[in-house]
Amino acid sequence: MKTLWAPWRMEHVLGKAAKISGCLFEPPGKASFDKDALLLYRDTQNVVLLNRFPYTNGHLLIAPIDHIACITELDPLGQAALMDMISKATQILRDNLKPDGLNVGCNLGKVAGAGIADHLHFHIVPRWEDDHNFMTVLADIRSIPEHLLTTFDKLLPSFQQLLVNTK
Ligand SMILES: [Zn+2]
Repeated sequence: MKTLWAPWRMEHVLGKAAKISGCLFEPPGKASFDKDALLLYRDTQNVVLLNRFPYTNGHLLIAPIDHIACITELDPLGQAALMDMISKATQILRDNLKPDGLNVGCNLGKVAGAGIADHLHFHIVPRWEDDHNFMTVLADIRSIPEHLLTTFDKLLPSFQQLLVNTK
């Protein structure tokens, strides 16, 4: 169980990063993607970001556009749109990265482990049988940016296809 919940502990790093330039889940502009912000997808209701401090390769963050802290603040349509986004992102990870399983979840409040407690967000963490070795790989700090951008490029077409499909 310790290993299972480790992804959420990574959030303290996320919180520090967000303080540098406003809310992490509200990248400036209206573009449907932004490689610098690791924004893979944005529509009128939700954003999907690649976690800059991933627990495993392809660790995604899904958040509503609105700056709200708790899922109870979303109306039923917003909740449905968020769950639909989580489902679609899960499918994209399955198709592109072929994980053996995934962790999907969220932390509500700092005491529960939320690094950014004031903007609701879900984590999707792809898991592989041998992914306990992943943090060792990331310990080589030089490999992180290239690794992230390679994953970004791999996932972006599938997310952009979602926008085409909804038009
Ligand atoms: Zn926000």
